Amino acid sequence: MNYANQFRIKTGNKADLGKIDADYHGDFDNEESTIDELNKYSKRLSDLQSLMYAENKNSLLIVLQAMDAGGKDGTIRHVMEALNPQGCNVVGFKVPTAEELAHDYLWRIHKMTPRNGHITVFNRSHYEDVLVVRVHDLVPKDVWSKRYNEINAFERGLANSGTTIVKFFLHIDKEEQLKRFRDRLDEADKQWKISDTDYEEREFWDDYQQAYVDAISKCSFNYAPWYVIPSNRKWFRNLAVSQILVETMEGWKMKYPAPSVDLAMIKQKYHAEVAEQLGVAAEELIVQEEQPKEKRGKKKGKKKKKKK
Ligand code: ADP
Repeated sequence: MNYANQFRIKTGNKADLGKIDADYHGDFDNEESTIDELNKYSKRLSDLQSLMYAENKNSLLIVLQAMDAGGKDGTIRHVMEALNPQGCNVVGFKVPTAEELAHDYLWRIHKMTPRNGHITVFNRSHYEDVLVVRVHDLVPKDVWSKRYNEINAFERGLANSGTTIVKFFLHIDKEEQLKRFRDRLDEADKQWKISDTDYEEREFWDDYQQAYVDAISKCSFNYAPWYVIPSNRKWFRNLAVSQILVETMEGWKMKYPAPSVDLAMIKQKYHAEVAEQLGVAAEELIVQEEQPKEKRGKKKGKKKKKKK
């Protein structure tokens, strides 16, 4: 199954969340049945990131949005596990500080976008400025309603500069949210997450869903698509997100850069002495070094030369 096609919101289409089954889990029945595929995608993601880092051309911005307890943290843990920390980072966007509020809403966002060769995950994002801000009337309607076009222009600019943007809405239903809140009450390592506000915000569930429908429907383009991921099942969510990331990065057709030096010359210049000790030609040294130690230097008919 190609989840990128299945879950992508096509430009101009309405993301009718009420009709998207948050419980969907494809052909998989349980976590166990996804393990092989998940491992395959994790390995591939790791290889692709290494290529991306070396090529230093593309950058990837992953935007994660969800209702409270929607699984942003779990998704981040899962995706980041496959990546080399040297080439990726996570940025969380909380209630804006006084300084952030004294600037335009994209100010704090733009400076955190990824540099060439890097992956950045946004845990919440500029979309909060058409979500919580809209639901709670934090700015007047004539201000937030202009933001869809502003966001589209902003993301277009990033895309034109080599940043690929993928946006995931982790879709859970209202019952699943309550269940996850309930589970937190009994789990010592999750109790710190519990807040009154989370429960109070449930009152605004429908308003949030409507705000999400608008944001996702108005801001999904080829250069920055939205994917609505059925996320009641955490393991299915991880699988779908991983597959979409792999497919996105494979689309870049990356190649390791050609060496900037003459390899034969380097081998000769810096490795010849060691090669001689091993009784092989300098050009063969690299291949030799990749073999297990006990096999190195044991070439048929060749005796190890003694150094005088
Ligand atoms: P998270 O839920 O992401 O793990 P928190 O529990 O600290 O982290 O929640 C962050 C809060 O910041 C959320 O309630 C979110 O709505 C709020 N927030 C983020 N961006 C904005 C914004 N631009 N304006 C107002 N509130 C925001």
